[in-house]
Amino acid sequence: MDVKDDMVVHIDGSQGEGGGQVLRTSLALSVLTGKPFVMERIRAGRKKPGLARQHMMCVEAAAAISGAEVEGNGLGSQSLRFQPGTVQPGDFHFDIGTAGSTTLVLQTLLMPLLLADEGSLLTIEGGTHNPMAPPFEFIRDTFLPQLRAMGARVEVTCERPGFYPAGGGRLSVEITPARALKAYEMLDRGALIRVTAASLLSLLPDVIAERELAVVRRKLKLPEDGQITRIDTAKGPGNAVLITIEHEHIVEVVTAVGEKSVSAERVATGAAREAQGYLQHGAPVGEHLADQLLLPMAVGGGGRFRTGPLTEHTRTNMRTIEAFVDAKFETTQVDAHVWEIAVTRMQAGK
Ligand code: AMP
Repeated sequence: MDVKDDMVVHIDGSQGEGGGQVLRTSLALSVLTGKPFVMERIRAGRKKPGLARQHMMCVEAAAAISGAEVEGNGLGSQSLRFQPGTVQPGDFHFDIGTAGSTTLVLQTLLMPLLLADEGSLLTIEGGTHNPMAPPFEFIRDTFLPQLRAMGARVEVTCERPGFYPAGGGRLSVEITPARALKAYEMLDRGALIRVTAASLLSLLPDVIAERELAVVRRKLKLPEDGQITRIDTAKGPGNAVLITIEHEHIVEVVTAVGEKSVSAERVATGAAREAQGYLQHGAPVGEHLADQLLLPMAVGGGGRFRTGPLTEHTRTNMRTIEAFVDAKFETTQVDAHVWEIAVTRMQAGK
């Protein structure tokens, strides 16, 4: 690849949290800024180090929207060189081919396509409810409304759910171009409106959902039974517990995805604990939304928000973003459980 070495951004893929997000944020910002990058030690500390199929799909998708030249995008590869061309918005169809997360492919592509000159339509096939990834409902009800507050217009539809291992889910996304994003501020969640629980079930007996909902109702002291949502259009069995916490100014969706040989009670307890943590810390932005807001704020109009204890994902994402754009992050502890994150754009377009 013919690139002057001093233009290339060098990223240590094992830094901080050291997971796929370092790669996805780098891809998004490389495509957006036109800066090439080299990443070494990709997921070096993981049980199966290097690129997995779902990461390779993110690289491929980022290359497809930007005409990039890529070296090292192979299974298990720990080093990657990515040289983007120009972003070409349009209609794209990506099939992960496994149950890999469709929403994480979206996380890679969304900002470059949103800030492009024309709109895009994406269809992404794979998993829609994966452990350790945003489920479809989180994107629709938690993430996108906040992006809308920055002036973005993005619509997502889950045309078919997809679970591990069968996959086959289908997410479609309509992106209306935004010339620029406004500053974002979210300091106060407002009054609690309601907490609701739902259990999604595909090709599994109702009793699983009944057991999960009983745990959530007891732990969160909910007045009513939750809702069982049958989604038997998925290709294989699957289950997820969703707890939706609505406050005046923000909706938080907490999720736990069911796994084979993990009891329904354990799955539901995980979700209930996370929901309790969110209800108790009192800040508007939940732990996952916190790391996901940093990128749009850093390439948009900056701003500030309050969240609970900072996660390693959030800290690592700040560092990765700083390697590509001239944005500054300031974190201040407000009280025992609340932090404020301020994002300042130093110079637009850099
Ligand atoms: P990584 O672990 O580096 O692949 O990054 C995972 C991404 O998925 C991060 O942006 C997390 O915030 C996000 N994520 C993981 N679990 C959830 C969840 N239950 N709800 C919403 N987002 C999630």
